[in-house]
Amino acid sequence: AALYNVDGWGGPYFAVNAAGNISVRSHGSATLPHQEIDLLKIVKKASDPKSIGGLGLQLPLIVRFPDVLKNRLECLQSAFDYAIQSEGYGSHYQGVYPVKCNQDRFVVEDIVKFGSPFRFGLEAGSKPELLLAMSCLCKGNPDALLICNGFKDAEYISLALVANKLALNTVIVLEQEEEVDLIIELSKKLCIKPVIGLRAKLRTKHSGHFGGTSGEKGKFGLTTAQILRVVKKLDLAGMLDCLQLLHFHIGSQIPSTALLADGVGEAAQIYCELVRLGANMRVIDIGGGLGIDYDGSKSCDSDISVGYSLEEYASAVVHAIQCVCDRRSVKNPVICSESGRAIVSHQSILVFEAVGTSTTVGGVSSAFSAPYVAGDLSEDYRFLSEAAFGGDYESCLAYTEELKERCVEQFKQGAVCMEQLAAVDGLCELVRKAVGAGEPVRRYHVNLSVFTSIPDAWGIEQVFPIIPIHRLDEKPSVRGILSDLTCDSDGKIDKFINGESSLPLHEVEGGSYYLGMFLGGAYEEALGGFHNLFGGPSVVRVSQSDGPHSFAVTRAVPGPSCGDVLRVMQHQPELMFETLKHRAYEYVSHDNAAVLASGLARTFDRMPYLVPLSSFGDADAAAAP
Ligand code: PLP
Repeated sequence: AALYNVDGWGGPYFAVNAAGNISVRSHGSATLPHQEIDLLKIVKKASDPKSIGGLGLQLPLIVRFPDVLKNRLECLQSAFDYAIQSEGYGSHYQGVYPVKCNQDRFVVEDIVKFGSPFRFGLEAGSKPELLLAMSCLCKGNPDALLICNGFKDAEYISLALVANKLALNTVIVLEQEEEVDLIIELSKKLCIKPVIGLRAKLRTKHSGHFGGTSGEKGKFGLTTAQILRVVKKLDLAGMLDCLQLLHFHIGSQIPSTALLADGVGEAAQIYCELVRLGANMRVIDIGGGLGIDYDGSKSCDSDISVGYSLEEYASAVVHAIQCVCDRRSVKNPVICSESGRAIVSHQSILVFEAVGTSTTVGGVSSAFSAPYVAGDLSEDYRFLSEAAFGGDYESCLAYTEELKERCVEQFKQGAVCMEQLAAVDGLCELVRKAVGAGEPVRRYHVNLSVFTSIPDAWGIEQVFPIIPIHRLDEKPSVRGILSDLTCDSDGKIDKFINGESSLPLHEVEGGSYYLGMFLGGAYEEALGGFHNLFGGPSVVRVSQSDGPHSFAVTRAVPGPSCGDVLRVMQHQPELMFETLKHRAYEYVSHDNAAVLASGLARTFDRMPYLVPLSSFGDADAAAAP
């Protein structure tokens, strides 16, 4: 646990149990006590063809824990409740979940259900998101907010007005000045009185990677001059009382409470100005930005950590708003936040498997054979042996690098054969080992697509805690980087927490070696695409059930098949199968064609990861043109 800093980034949800496996702590309920669930047991159960309805789900696998999600929501709410009570703040906190962070139906439905006792709502940023938020909130608390953000056309605004008509507590937030004209026109046409918010562009700037949307030159929101024009337009239309909410978003992963308080204080001044200008203000929506400590370092100088707790975050927000409003004698507004990352990151774990390893110099020891170290090379051999025996290890290592480069050049010119090149590789590795330079970093091939399942690792070099989920009571003997199965050299992970460029790993000797990516429940699933036509992972939902250490798989969904992902790119798998089957009967004997065709049918039906070629198992297949 200490080697991978599990307590730092994983507490209070993840720990290492006595068996050396990752355990997930569910936080119990009135009827069920707190329990530890062994993650390896879940993976074994989900992939066992004899279990959960014979599904035998393939990896990679997303394991979701609704109990963890519930606990995150409750902790966020109680952090604000506590801050409000201890500061004597004159209103309440009522959050919304931005569905873009993870639009999975069950995640959104759970949030609406778990958040219903405290009026937790949803935020949408597009028409499809609005549709899903509307239908989910029909089953939620009637006071829960439905915040409509994002760029809006007439259809989006009409839909938001319809939501209002359906008695959903809808706020249309202006992101662009022109939207106000559309809202005035459409609300009059449809005879629906809207509740309007506006997004302000703050001057406060968050300088980290996730702060690109903040500051005066940020992409979203209204400038001071635009806010004043919007107020005037609404006033002229007799709709200034509709303006009730001020929204801003400093950026995701806000590093410190100092920056947060600065931004919230500026926004509170704008809020008070809107009150002065005659708007019917009720809510201040502080956007997202509540960060996650991905490496457990509790640092405010890093994009992947934050220097505050949930309680400190809530207290900084409440204090900053109250200071400004009390000074200006403005009634304390309802505080809304759009925390996404902080709510959904912990609830899912992506589990994948190492399916093989290779070193940078493959199969070296067996390739080293003295007869090939002949001629010129025997001189080098002598030099290296002498330097090694004399303890001059640095010269040895430098010399081997130089020797290797020289031999590669000679190989390119045809002066050195393949066996000699392999022998030099072997010699270099022996020297590295002899001088104690350690084994080179290995490449672990893992059965997933980084582009599909961890897109931020590729796109913005984000670092997530990735560790083996078992054998944690065994000292890892090698270091490795992870390479995915896509045919793309960017499909790798070579940046890990603590600034490491490789991960301590165990030997994969027979058996299965499972790794987990933690804290990726926000954004990663929502962003992932179909690069190399690898589909998404299988998913299971796991809840605690009666008895110690026991759990129930309450839902299991296989990942998309090869046919499914081909359909995404407009291919027609049924037709493709017919074409290939037809060709099989043309080129292969009748019996073998039938075997081939059924193998092909299975391949279309299986997940795109690791389709075993042995399914074809037919001599004709290899010989077919
Ligand atoms: N609200 C808005 C407007 C956003 O742009 C975002 C994401 O960047 C969020 C909320 C969610 O932010 P976070 O995941 O940092 O809580």
